[in-house]
Amino acid sequence: MRRECKEGGQTNRIKMKLVFLGPPGSGKGTQAKLLCGRYSIPQISTGDILRQAVRDHTPLGEQAKAYMDQGLLVSDDLIIGIIAECLRKSDCGEGYILDGFPRTVPQAEALEQSGEVLDHVFLLEVAEAELVGRLTGRRVCSSCNQEYHIQFYPPSREGYCDRCGGELLQRKDDKEETIGHRLVEYERRTKSLVDYYGGKGKLRRIAGDGNLETISGRIRQELEDIDR
Ligand code: ADP
Ligand code: ZN
Repeated sequence: MRRECKEGGQTNRIKMKLVFLGPPGSGKGTQAKLLCGRYSIPQISTGDILRQAVRDHTPLGEQAKAYMDQGLLVSDDLIIGIIAECLRKSDCGEGYILDGFPRTVPQAEALEQSGEVLDHVFLLEVAEAELVGRLTGRRVCSSCNQEYHIQFYPPSREGYCDRCGGELLQRKDDKEETIGHRLVEYERRTKSLVDYYGGKGKLRRIAGDGNLETISGRIRQELEDIDR
């Protein structure tokens, strides 16, 4: 057993390499963040990395922006390079959560070829009808990146972040016309990873309906069940 989480204790770190998989709006970023905080392992979100690169106007950001704004996947080569660099960093050696990567079979193959051995791939399952409402209602703090939902997790003052007072904005790719493209990309290019990881015995299905705490409870339960 490689799990080292001591509830209420000191270690609170797990040595596990996890992937969160799911359609846009399934909540994988939110859940990855919660779990990483709890177990003190790094979260690697390719979406966050790319958005930061766009904000910073780096060459990577310039290349990725047009694809992201249209709801299309950026090229495998670009993403594989980013991940390779992240994984070389020392704090990734013992465990991490990849959120948003891999998203295509070639990306998954590249990860495997780089020698990374994943422990589990969590698939967050949400009915498609619900995804659009989750995405169109999402708002993100322009200053600290905290996420809200106009209906499910509204801030106390409309349009402003509870944590830092920053202005809440809608991601460009959360507009309804772009969401369709993202869902199609998921179906066309990402969904095959369900079979890919299922075939390797790594896939853990998690019901993605309900509130944040309910879903994170299911993930924790699954991790505990695996440990036994
Ligand atoms: P979501 O999963 O909600 O669509 P993300 O924040 O994970 O959003 O990703 C936003 C965008 O970043 C994607 O639509 C895509 O353009 C790009 N992107 C993120 N990860 C990858 C990846 N692994 N491969 C290709 N493109 C990616
Ligand atoms: Zn904020």
